[in-house]
Amino acid sequence: MDGVLIMQGKSPSSGWQLFGAIKGLASSYWITLLHLFRKPITEQYPEFKRTLPARTRGKIILTRSPDGKERCVACYLCSGVCPVSCISMAAAESEDGRRYASWFRINFARCIFCGLCEEACPTLALQLTPEFEFCGTDILHFVYEKEDLLVAHGGKNSDYDFYKHCGIGANSEKGRRDNEKEPVNIRSNMP
Ligand code: SF4
Ligand code: SF4
Repeated sequence: MDGVLIMQGKSPSSGWQLFGAIKGLASSYWITLLHLFRKPITEQYPEFKRTLPARTRGKIILTRSPDGKERCVACYLCSGVCPVSCISMAAAESEDGRRYASWFRINFARCIFCGLCEEACPTLALQLTPEFEFCGTDILHFVYEKEDLLVAHGGKNSDYDFYKHCGIGANSEKGRRDNEKEPVNIRSNMP
């Protein structure tokens, strides 16, 4: 008997399939109807500005150590890792052996805000910020010099001081760095 119904296109399952299709159609119309009466949640930019997460990759800054000195040691790691080669600088050295960038330049017209430079920076000097509103029509407007990039704070890692961890120069005295003990006098250990 079943065989006869299938041959005629009237199997028991086809009724359920039709019911399921109508139910699916009705529920989608119902959801559309509900949304017609919902309050819109569109946020009007720039009147409304959403607070972006601290790790948002926007405009780049050069930060300072807690003592107010420049963190950047002009190691060229950021410019080496940059996939579009938009960072350039020249290294210099102060009298106490501390390295710094005599000039530092980022061409934001080429930057793709990938964050690789921040990952590579050993001193946490270079940081990306959630700031993204710096558009313009003049392409030269996007070439930022060190004076434009350098800020007066430590950014996301305000307590970190690279030189306190590693010392200045290869011959810096032991026991002067953070969490470093004075060297042991081996003669005092003798029996
Ligand atoms: S965010 Fe990416 S593209 Fe931009 S300067 Fe850093 S490494 Fe280069
Ligand atoms: S910003 Fe960081 S990675 Fe780039 S040169 Fe300075 S210390 Fe090196």
